[in-house]
Amino acid sequence: MAGQLREMGYSPVPDEKSADLVIVNTCAVRGSAEQHALGYVGQLKQLKDQKSSMKLAVAGCMSQEPGTIAWLKKYASHVDLVFGTHNLHELPKLLDEVEERGEMVVDVWKTAGEVVEHLPSQRADGVQAYVNIIYGCDKFCTYCIVPFTRGKERSREIPAIVEEVEALAREGYQDITVLGQNVNSYGHDLTPPVDLADLLVRLEKVDGVRWLRYTTSHPRDFSQKLIDVIAQSHKVTRHVHLPVQSGSNSILKRMNRKYTREQYLDLMERVKAAIPDAVLTTDIIVGFPGETEDDFEQTMDLIKTVRYDAAFTFIYSPREKTPAARWEGRDPVPNPVKKDRLNRLMDLQYRISLEANQRLVGRTELVLVEGLSKKNPNVWAGRTHTNKVVLLERDPDVDLIDRFVPVKITQAKTFYLGGEVVGAPVSERSRRRRVELPLV
Ligand code: SAH
Ligand code: SF4
Repeated sequence: MAGQLREMGYSPVPDEKSADLVIVNTCAVRGSAEQHALGYVGQLKQLKDQKSSMKLAVAGCMSQEPGTIAWLKKYASHVDLVFGTHNLHELPKLLDEVEERGEMVVDVWKTAGEVVEHLPSQRADGVQAYVNIIYGCDKFCTYCIVPFTRGKERSREIPAIVEEVEALAREGYQDITVLGQNVNSYGHDLTPPVDLADLLVRLEKVDGVRWLRYTTSHPRDFSQKLIDVIAQSHKVTRHVHLPVQSGSNSILKRMNRKYTREQYLDLMERVKAAIPDAVLTTDIIVGFPGETEDDFEQTMDLIKTVRYDAAFTFIYSPREKTPAARWEGRDPVPNPVKKDRLNRLMDLQYRISLEANQRLVGRTELVLVEGLSKKNPNVWAGRTHTNKVVLLERDPDVDLIDRFVPVKITQAKTFYLGGEVVGAPVSERSRRRRVELPLV
């Protein structure tokens, strides 16, 4: 969207007040994010009343939900444009339509068309870039809205992805993340079919790329071939994020995750055996409809067995159209129980995260310095290739931002590491200086 707007002559401004166009780009995965987005749309009414020339658009996954459109029509008539995930390439045309019609334009496609290549793009400058490789999701986990908002899986062809990554590398991007709702099903729909392992092997050959990441993975499609490629690679980062969601077989079955606890643990054992230094992370949902104390204890037990470096933990949130939302009506876990389980889970995970970080003290790691710490301008914040945050004391006489530097880890906390720079940067300065697009 930013790339199309730049071609139309728009440029980023620091806040909504000085904007001619505000696009609220939404996420529908959980109810809390939706409430937040709608609240923000509501707040913008006052600004629109003062400045009628400002255009307000709502985009993203929430627009794909009929409930959102009905809500916006009823309570947010100050919105000028609603468009979805399948027609964002039509943004210039949609904005023209808003000018012509002078009333709320709603244009949301129910299904996705072909993958659109060669759209103009605008990335936050720096050395990190994200590249979509597959759109949509065919998994239909029973709690998840993504297959409804993003449509069926559509992979991009390998040559188009390679071309994009080569162009990025020439521009100085060295830390590339390939993206998809489920990158492990990449390529099954192409002729001839290919897979993520094939793509990573090809991308590894691109000169200038230093770190190659992929997100998000589904355990069911995480193949031994992929494990072997990661184990042998010098570029694919050794961070393996494999969302388990629950440790209970009966919950996994009702979630339609299509693996058992035993299959998942076997996969983790194989990952650990092939990539001993892998950093393991996961996603977990607590309070899925009908989750018993015993089911929850099995999740706790699985965390103790795998010993993840970190976990994203969520309270189950009912989503329109999904089977689990109907079960939530009949057999919900009471709210205080959901909260108590989340707290117990986080306590356990934080303890394990701290222990995992403590084991890194004394090691030297390559760190990409991303910027100044938000809390302290005398400190740099960076990341290891395994996505661990490292804080470094800043030397005001040198600028290390966007550079890869060797760092000795000296301190371990639950959510970050502390370290000191122990050598010269291993990379040239990027030609691209980081200018963040304003995000609210
Ligand atoms: N495609 C990815 C991630 C999708 S959303 C995957 O399959 O792993 C990211 C995470 O949000 C999920 O892993 C899940 O843990 C969580 N999530 C998805 N739907 C949710 C819901 N209805 N309630 C709570 N958490 C949810
Ligand atoms: Fe949602 Fe991920 Fe399941 Fe797809 S694989 S339905 S995106 S949780």
